[in-house]
Amino acid sequence: MASVGRVCLYCSQVVTTEDVVKVCGRCLAVHHEECWDRNGRCSTFRCVGVPQTMRGDAVLPYIQATMERDNEQPGICPLCGSRVYAGVLQGSALPPRGGAAQRGLVFQASTPAPKGSRSLAARVLRRIRPAPKWVLAAAAIRARSCGHCRRVFLWGMPLDASFIEQWGQDIAQGFCPHCGEQLSGGRLLVDAGALGRARFECDGIPTFHKDWFGHHVVDRFFLRRWPVKAGAIPAASCPSCHYTEVAGRPVYRLQ
Ligand SMILES: [Zn+2]
Ligand SMILES: [Zn+2]
Ligand SMILES: [Zn+2]
Ligand SMILES: [Zn+2]
Repeated sequence: MASVGRVCLYCSQVVTTEDVVKVCGRCLAVHHEECWDRNGRCSTFRCVGVPQTMRGDAVLPYIQATMERDNEQPGICPLCGSRVYAGVLQGSALPPRGGAAQRGLVFQASTPAPKGSRSLAARVLRRIRPAPKWVLAAAAIRARSCGHCRRVFLWGMPLDASFIEQWGQDIAQGFCPHCGEQLSGGRLLVDAGALGRARFECDGIPTFHKDWFGHHVVDRFFLRRWPVKAGAIPAASCPSCHYTEVAGRPVYRLQ
């Protein structure tokens, strides 16, 4: 029985390919069937998702297909009427201690000192110590972006002030599905300064030009990536294994 690379959010035990599992249709948290039934609901804080029952070996394809389907909209930008493209949001990031630049994203935690330490010294330290940052190598956010106004859409929702407000709350309530540790609340930096700036990269070739040269040369090689109109993205990340989620959904690893 092989592990599917996930732990049950209820009992923290590994989920294997042979287990009967219930996956939350909303937040995609994985549970053993008995664990979901014992708990009576999804174990994610405040989640009201409905379970999908399947064998362990179907879990990862299900999660992938759900994320692709939820990212199919919009086709036309509701704000400017131009075409919206599917792709990934990704940056070039240097690992914190030097080394070669690699593609990925930079996470910045918003909770530098462990929660629950109430002493004055701990509170002062929390104020003056810079928030820890870590590089998520090869990570990318599956997203859509408007080719004209360059806004970003995640799972059909525009990545705007109300998205950030909605998903910026209760962000550190979750647990890592790989190692069961509590996630740190924080944000993914679209502009990480010296660590690079995230850009949107289309899956295919965008159609800004109708002529052959414009489309096959300019669009393909020069206009396929663009800087996006978005600030920091609220996210939660595991301090141990760097599993990261945005709006309750896992961030992609490309390799
Ligand atoms: Zn379980
Ligand atoms: Zn859920
Ligand atoms: Zn637009
Ligand atoms: Zn972890």
